[in-house]
Amino acid sequence: MSTPLTTESSYDVIVVGAGSGGLTAAVGLSRFSKRVLLVEKGPMGGDCTNTGCIPSKSLLHLSQDVAQARNHNQEQLAETPTGSSVLERVRTRRDQLANHEVDEFGSMDGIELVFATATIVGPQRVELRAQTATGPVTVEVTAPNVVVSPGSKPRRIPVPGLPEYRYLTNEEIFELTDPPARLAIIGAGPVGLEMAVAFTRLGSDVVVLDAADQILPSLLPEAAKVLTEALTAQGIDLRPGLVAHGYDEATGTLAIGPLGAEPNDAISDVDAVLVAVGRIPNSKGMGLEDVGVNFAPSGHVEVDAKGRTAVDGLWAVGDVTLNGGTTHLANAWGRRLIQAIALPYLPLGDEPERPAVTYTKPEVATIGHQPTEAARDVIRITVDIAGVDRAYTDEVDHGILIVDVRRFTGKILGATIVGPRAGELITMFSLAMKADIAFHKWYGTVYPYPTYGDAISRAVDEYMSATMSNLPSQFGVWAGARVRSVAGRELSAAGLVGRVRGRG
Ligand SMILES: Cc1cc2nc3c(=O)[nH]c(=O)nc-3n(C[C@H](O)[C@H](O)[C@H](O)COP(=O)(O)OP(=O)(O)OC[C@H]3O[C@@H](n4cnc5c(N)ncnc54)[C@H](O)[C@@H]3O)c2cc1C
Repeated sequence: MSTPLTTESSYDVIVVGAGSGGLTAAVGLSRFSKRVLLVEKGPMGGDCTNTGCIPSKSLLHLSQDVAQARNHNQEQLAETPTGSSVLERVRTRRDQLANHEVDEFGSMDGIELVFATATIVGPQRVELRAQTATGPVTVEVTAPNVVVSPGSKPRRIPVPGLPEYRYLTNEEIFELTDPPARLAIIGAGPVGLEMAVAFTRLGSDVVVLDAADQILPSLLPEAAKVLTEALTAQGIDLRPGLVAHGYDEATGTLAIGPLGAEPNDAISDVDAVLVAVGRIPNSKGMGLEDVGVNFAPSGHVEVDAKGRTAVDGLWAVGDVTLNGGTTHLANAWGRRLIQAIALPYLPLGDEPERPAVTYTKPEVATIGHQPTEAARDVIRITVDIAGVDRAYTDEVDHGILIVDVRRFTGKILGATIVGPRAGELITMFSLAMKADIAFHKWYGTVYPYPTYGDAISRAVDEYMSATMSNLPSQFGVWAGARVRSVAGRELSAAGLVGRVRGRG
């Protein structure tokens, strides 16, 4: 044994992965006086800092200057930003943040940070491997609680004929030194659409394909329509219902067509293809399968409401679980896990809501469950955000707010916002859903003028007039739905629903 990797061989908690979930867990637990060993095998900050949230949002922000300079033809500006200078600046700012995180968390009281690859070798045992100046070193450390947050990686799909150097995922796109003249994006989800907006601003000619027949496939169709119009007006060529069938390197042509059918069209002069078709959890290959952890069919680690895996003392958080996909969910579930480890006797409360934001222009924010057709006992309120005064002053042409509220009780079931600052506005719904603040209680809230909050005020007014002017009938619809739902549950519990149906 040569240089030791750690100062001790046992800790209160070992956290594997210094990304969004791991950092939340490590910092929170250290504040409860736990001695934490934080293990990271790659750059500090994980996906969010290095290849996700931070570079993508920096790029979206900085690329606005390039678009503005182009639109206003500002040759007189001494330092007009270019696509390549912006990409360079994105990397600089990202690396500065990662370095800052090393300093910040590496010197935090109660946390010992080591750069090594961790393997779970027993329920409370972790093996660390690292290269040091004197060669490879392996040590074993133990703790009563081990938290794994190894994140996820981009799902790769084959694009026959496409050479590797033209195949991009979120792990390569921020390393580009120049924006591609023509960029094809496969996948019209959050990552694909954000990059479409940013690279269009940088001057790339962008085409977006998706197998589904609308962009952001899980979005309500009326909201997807508003977003489609806004993105198309920015010059983005959106082609839902089409996939890439193959690439011809000699001509630079990408053959496209419907999924499962022959290609029927082509995009010429494609320089690069960004594949943004989802994520795969990093759940295999770090020993979890050998110690008895359960996995969902998708490969995610199964955890209970506290974040516990099936193995005593082994916890999981972030993208490796089904409670991940975003940094704020990794943070929220990380906080539950901190409480469950540090204050095990305090009740945890309900599972957190799952707001989601796509930072396109306009932004898209959703929370809760909104089926395409609202149920009878739900009032669906739609407000045209382009019609509020702030949209007029800001020359905003596209926006929509759709709120689903249970009739009579005012319980908020879900909301979708497409519009400027949708990501900030959705927090009001997140709070109301967590604290169970019925929609009629929002009545009388004062929204500063002129703000986009006016759209919410209009939605509340609409709910109040639909409900208060017609209280007995709203009560009737709500009560009828309750009776049907309770009766349905009881019949099915008694096994009667199947039998009655079987007879018919
Ligand atoms: C392009 C893009 C944009 C995004 N934008 C947003 C956004 O705007 N907002 C948002 O909320 N979310 C966003 N996300 C999602 C967000 O980045 C992730 O949900 C979040 O980073 C997940 O955190 P995590 O802790 O699960 O994983 P990560 O942050 O990826 O951390 C996992 C860490 O574990 C380390 N690790 C893995 N295995 C081992 C091992 N065996 N030993 C030691 N270390 C190990 C990895 O090196 C990594 O550093 C975006 C994602 C992408 C791809």
